[in-house]
Amino acid sequence: MPLKSVVHYLQPVDDWLPIDKQVGIAGVINGLAMKVLFLDQSGQLGGAELSLTDVAKHFKHQGLVYLFEGGPFADKLAAAQVPYKVRQRPSLSISKESGLWQGLLSLRQLLPLVGEVAKMAQTYDLIYANTQKALVVGAMASVLARKPLVYHLRDILSAEHFSPINRRVAITLANTCATLVIANSQATRQAFMDAGGRPQLIKVVYNGFDPDQYEGQPLLRPVLQQQHAIQEGFWIGHFSRLSPWKGQHVLVDALQYLDEAVQVLLVGKALFGEDDYVQSLQAKILNFGLQDHVHFLGFRSDIPALMASCDLVAHTSTSPEPFGRVIIESMLSGCPVVAAKDGGATELIDHGKTGWLCPPNDPQQLAQMIGECQRQPQLRQKIATQARVQASQTFSLEQTNQVIAGLLQQHVRRTTSS
Ligand code: UDP
Repeated sequence: MPLKSVVHYLQPVDDWLPIDKQVGIAGVINGLAMKVLFLDQSGQLGGAELSLTDVAKHFKHQGLVYLFEGGPFADKLAAAQVPYKVRQRPSLSISKESGLWQGLLSLRQLLPLVGEVAKMAQTYDLIYANTQKALVVGAMASVLARKPLVYHLRDILSAEHFSPINRRVAITLANTCATLVIANSQATRQAFMDAGGRPQLIKVVYNGFDPDQYEGQPLLRPVLQQQHAIQEGFWIGHFSRLSPWKGQHVLVDALQYLDEAVQVLLVGKALFGEDDYVQSLQAKILNFGLQDHVHFLGFRSDIPALMASCDLVAHTSTSPEPFGRVIIESMLSGCPVVAAKDGGATELIDHGKTGWLCPPNDPQQLAQMIGECQRQPQLRQKIATQARVQASQTFSLEQTNQVIAGLLQQHVRRTTSS
């Protein structure tokens, strides 16, 4: 079958147009536009994909996002008018837990994709891999196409999340093929180095957010009460895909120690086949008789309005979170947040000043903290106000994109001049 792909919103970009001839150019080398080929393995809308959308938007006049599979991510890019292209062949079947045998089998699927990307990369200055499988493909393609490779690391490369072989492959390819690794937190950077990654390769750039998108949100409470039969009371939002390590069960367990007024909104769905987990969660809720207190809202695209409608956001990951977009989104939406004290979350929250940190996987302690928040509306308001100011100053999308553009420029320059 011939290699085919679909191009959407691909705006014509003349090769090497002088900067003053283009509008909104993000990266410039020697006065000329820099062209970036972004790679992402997923068609689903996870945090990595939402963060990439924000970066790629900045490069939309001279970048292209190449997706290894179709899905809602492609629709999101289309809505943001970011040029993208979806691969028409089946996606790679390596999972985070893959062993050697599966890895070898997937080489057969991998090689045509590498060839495809290497060919596309000829007309770009840089390959930018946004996910682990994208790194595997991007690394080989970068060697074939002789283009610099940047790896945006948005995962904690630990045993909890990745099989030993997957970690080894990621570290070896990053160490040998990437000219730069961008980590989305100190925690992510540390895990990379602990796994054998070269410290001089890696720079931390926190995810950026546009504060305007979180201002002046409509209050959805009356609509939600009607549509999902949620009673008035103290509303706790949990915003994440439904997955064991995102810890929705920890919040459900904590509910046993809380009073009748508490209502939990679980926002998100199982994105990567975690249907067993959803069933176990539903069984737990039934078992505890909490059906009127826990509400599944499914995947939503009106996150800021939902957050603004909650009294508290709980972030209950049981393994270290690489960054935790939800935490900053809650802060910008004016909703106080309590998060598991681990990974990136500890870098985003100043405990007792811009939110609260709670020991991970400890429903009793979580319930105690939630109870205290519930009893102190003035403190909640104070924390929410401080958090909003801090988040809009520290996690500005504009600044993040400028830093990333600057780093990419440096690395392209360095490669072209060597
Ligand atoms: N999210 C969403 N709709 C949902 C649930 C979550 O758009 O129904 C978004 C959420 O607002 C956040 C992202 O998904 O921006 C999750 O990112 P995070 O860094 O918290 O976790 P990840 O998916 O990267 O593990």
